[in-house]
Amino acid sequence: MADNTPMMQQYLKIKQELPDCILFFRLGDFYEMFNEDALTASKELELTLTTRDRGKPEAERTPMCGVPYHSYESYVARLLAKGYKVAICEQTEDPALAKGLVSRDIVRIITPGTVIEQSMLEEGRQNYVCTVFAEAGGAAVCFADISTGEFLAAEFTGPDAMGHVLNELVRYSPAEAIINMQAAENKEIRQLLTKRIKCLCQTGDGVFEPVGAAEQFRSHFGEDAYAKNEDKKNLIAAAGGLLSYLHDTQKTGLAHIDTLTLYTSGRFMELDYQTRRNLELTETIRSKDKRGSLLWVLDKTRTAMGGRLLRSWIEKPLLSTNVINRRLNAVAELVSNTIMRGELREGLKAIDDMERLIGRVVYGSGNARDLAALAGSAEALPGIKKLLAGAKSDMLVELADMDELADMVALVRDVICADPPFSVREGGMIRKGYDPEIDRLHELAENAKGAVAAIEASEKERTGKKLRIGYNKVFGYYIEMPRSQSEDVPEDYIRKQTLVNCERFITQELKELETQLLTARDRVTDLEYRLFFDTAQKVTSIAPAIRSTAADIATLDALCSLAETAAKNNYCKPEVDVSDIIDIKDGRHPVVEAAQSTTLFVPNDAYLDGENCRVTIITGPNMAGKSTYMRQTALIVLMAQIGSFVPARSARIGITDRIFTRIGASDDLSSGQSTFMVEMSEVAEILKHATRRSLLILDEIGRGTSTFDGMAIARAVLEYCAEPRKLGARTMFATHYHELTALENEISGVRNMNTSVKKRGDDVIFLRKIVPGGADRSYGVEVAKLAGVPESVIKRSKTILSELESGTAQTAPVISAPIDDGQISFGSISENRISERLQAIDLNTLTPIEAMNLLFELKKELQQ
Ligand code: ADP
Repeated sequence: MADNTPMMQQYLKIKQELPDCILFFRLGDFYEMFNEDALTASKELELTLTTRDRGKPEAERTPMCGVPYHSYESYVARLLAKGYKVAICEQTEDPALAKGLVSRDIVRIITPGTVIEQSMLEEGRQNYVCTVFAEAGGAAVCFADISTGEFLAAEFTGPDAMGHVLNELVRYSPAEAIINMQAAENKEIRQLLTKRIKCLCQTGDGVFEPVGAAEQFRSHFGEDAYAKNEDKKNLIAAAGGLLSYLHDTQKTGLAHIDTLTLYTSGRFMELDYQTRRNLELTETIRSKDKRGSLLWVLDKTRTAMGGRLLRSWIEKPLLSTNVINRRLNAVAELVSNTIMRGELREGLKAIDDMERLIGRVVYGSGNARDLAALAGSAEALPGIKKLLAGAKSDMLVELADMDELADMVALVRDVICADPPFSVREGGMIRKGYDPEIDRLHELAENAKGAVAAIEASEKERTGKKLRIGYNKVFGYYIEMPRSQSEDVPEDYIRKQTLVNCERFITQELKELETQLLTARDRVTDLEYRLFFDTAQKVTSIAPAIRSTAADIATLDALCSLAETAAKNNYCKPEVDVSDIIDIKDGRHPVVEAAQSTTLFVPNDAYLDGENCRVTIITGPNMAGKSTYMRQTALIVLMAQIGSFVPARSARIGITDRIFTRIGASDDLSSGQSTFMVEMSEVAEILKHATRRSLLILDEIGRGTSTFDGMAIARAVLEYCAEPRKLGARTMFATHYHELTALENEISGVRNMNTSVKKRGDDVIFLRKIVPGGADRSYGVEVAKLAGVPESVIKRSKTILSELESGTAQTAPVISAPIDDGQISFGSISENRISERLQAIDLNTLTPIEAMNLLFELKKELQQ
C-alpha cells in the first residue's frame, strides 16, 4: 500500500471492508473500478480495461475501468442480474472546497433485493429481500420490499416448520435471501432458493446474532412491538437480522419501513411450489410468461400498485369468509355499476406508482420529478372519491374515505414547477414566482447570456476579426480567433491558450461578466436545491398518509380489475362459506377459455363434499379434457378465495385450506431423480400435509412404474384419500387404470366420472363433457391415430389390443406376430423370442464360434 497514491490508499481501505461487492468509486464524473473489480466488470459489462499508471512495468499497473455517473443505473442493473452486489462510494465533500484528498464514503450497497431505482424494478411485481432463521423446533421468515416499505414476518413451530417456510418462500419469491447456517443445511431450502427461485442466496449467522438482532428490532419497531413478540425468538432473529442487513446496505434510517405485519399460517391458503407451478398462477410452466397465466386473465389494472396488489392477492388466497365476501361484494357492485367502474378505471389511469415514488423521496434518492408526479397523482384523487361517494359495499364505502392529500398537492405545486428536470443539482426545479431571489438570479443569468452575445458582437466590430466567444471549465469565457488573425489584437486582450489552429484570449470585461454569471448560477442551484430538499422533507413527514392512500388506490384498482374481467368474461359471483361443499355449475377454465378464440369452451359441472362425494375418479382417453377439468376446479376454488368472480354459471365454494396438485412430469429430472421417484415424493408430501379441508388434484398417479405396481399404488393412494379416518380430503383423481372405477362400489364417498367421447368409424370425437360413470375404454389407439402415428403401427396396435381384450394373449408386450410384414408366425411366446433374437443378430460381425453358441442356446430355448 505504501507505494500507492493517497487516493489509491483511500480506495483500498474502503474496498477492504467490502470484499463481496463490486466497488463503484466516484472520481469526478465517473465511477471507477480497480483491480479485480475492474477485471470482473470489464468482462461482464464489456468495458475497456485501462490503467492509471502507464509508467510502471506492466505487472505492477492497476487495471481500471469506469462508467459515467449519470448512466450508472444500467450498469448496476446488469451486474445485479448476474448475481453481483454493487457498493456505491461517493465524494462526501465538494471537490472544489476540499483541502487535499476529497473525502469519500460508501453511501449504499445495491443488491438484487434492495434496489429502489425505477429502471431496475419490474413495475408489476414486488421486489423482496428476505431472511430465514431456523433453529431446532422452529423457523421464521421475514420479507421486505424496500421500494414500497412492506415488511412481513411469520414464525412456524413444530416438525413441519421448514415445510411452511418453503411455501412462504415460493409465495413471495424473493430476489435475495440471507439465511442462517441451520436453514442452509436444509437441502430443499437451498435448492428452492438457488435453482427454482434463482435468487441471490447468502449464508451467514452474523446478522442473526441474538443480542444485535433484538436491539435492531426494538430500536426500529419500538418497545411495545418488542414486548408483544419477545417470546418469538426466531421471529425476532429473522426480523432483526433483516433490519440489520438493510442498515448495512442502505446506510439510512429505513424510515420508510414503519409497519411490521405479522402473519400466521392460518391466514392464507398455503400452496406449495408444484401447485403454484401446475396451476400457472402468475406465469406459465413452459415459457415462464405472464401471458397464459391466471394473472394474465385477471389483470386489467390501471396502476403499477394495483398490478402488484392483484398479483399478491393471487399469491395469497384468503381463508376468512368475511374478508373474502367483503371483496366479493365490492367486486359485485363494480360489476353491476358499469358507469362507475368505467369512470373509476379512467380516473386511475392518471395515477403514478405513488408507493415507489414516496419510497424514493423518503430514501433521499427522489428528485423534483418524483414530487411533481406524486402531486399529479394526488390531483386525480378528488375525482375518484367523488365517483365512490354513492357506493354501497363496505369496502368501497371505506375507500371513499381515503385521504386526498390536498396539503401535499398544495405544497408541491406551490414550490415545484410543472415539468422539473431529472437532476436536482442543476436548478430549474422551482416554480417561477415562488422565490423572488431565485427569479432575480435566473433573470440575471438570462441577461448575462445576452451580454455575452453583445460582447461578441462588439468585439467583432472593434477588431474586425473573425472571432467567437466560447466557454470551458478550465478558462471560463474566452475569445477565440484563428492564429492567422491573432497577431495584432487590442492591448486589453490577455493571451490564455495557444492551440494548433487558434488562439484564446480573455478580457477584463469578459471576466467580470463571468464572475457575475457563475456566482448567480451557483447561488441559484444552491438555493433551488435547498428549497427542493426542504419540500422533500415536508413530504417525507407525511409519508405514512401518502402510503395509506397509495394502498387504497391499489385496492380500488385491483377490485376494478376483477370486476372488469368478471363483466367481460361473463363470470358469476361465487357463494363462499364454511361448508365442505364445492358445487360448480357449468364451470370453465379461465385461461383455456380466454386463449381459445375459435372453438367454444365446453362448460362442466363439478361437485365434491365431505360426505358422499369426497373423491371423484375421472377416466377417459388422453386429450379428452381430464386435466383441464381438474385444473379448472382448482382455479375456480382459488379465484373464489381471492374474492374474484368465477367462470361458471353458479358456484358454491366451501373454504379450502390448501390445494395440492400432482400433475404431469416434473422439472426435477435435472436433480438426478427418476420421474417415478419425483412423482412418489410429491405424493408423499401431499398425503403428509393435506387435511380434510384440502382439495387434491391427482393426475395419473402410478404412471411412472409397471402396470401392476402403478395400479396398486394408485388404489392405495385413492383409498387413503377417501377414507375419512385417514385423510378424507376432497379429491379429483384422473387415471388410466379403469380397474379403479370398481372402487365406486367398494368405498363410500367415491364417484366415477368420465370424459365422454363419440366414436365415428375409426375416429374419436372429444365431446369435452364430463359425465357420471367410468369410461369403458381408453381409445388410446384412436388418439395415437389422431396424433399421426403411422397407419401400419395403428393397425398392429389394434390387433394386439383385440387379442388382449379377448384374453388370447396373456403377456405383454409379446403377443401375436405381426401379420402383414412378411414374417413367419411361430405362435408361441418362446418362438417369438427366438425370432426376435434372430432378427437382432448382425451376421457380418458374428464369428463362427459365436454362431455355434447361439444355435445351441436357441435350440435349448425351443426345448423349454
Ligand atoms: P387430458 O388431460 O384428458 O389428456 P387435457 O385436459 O389436456 O386432456 O385437454 C386437452 C385439450 O383439450 C386442452 O388443451 C384444451 O385445449 C382442450 N379442452 C379440454 N377441455 C375442454 C373443454 N371443456 N372445452 C373445450 N376444449 C377443451
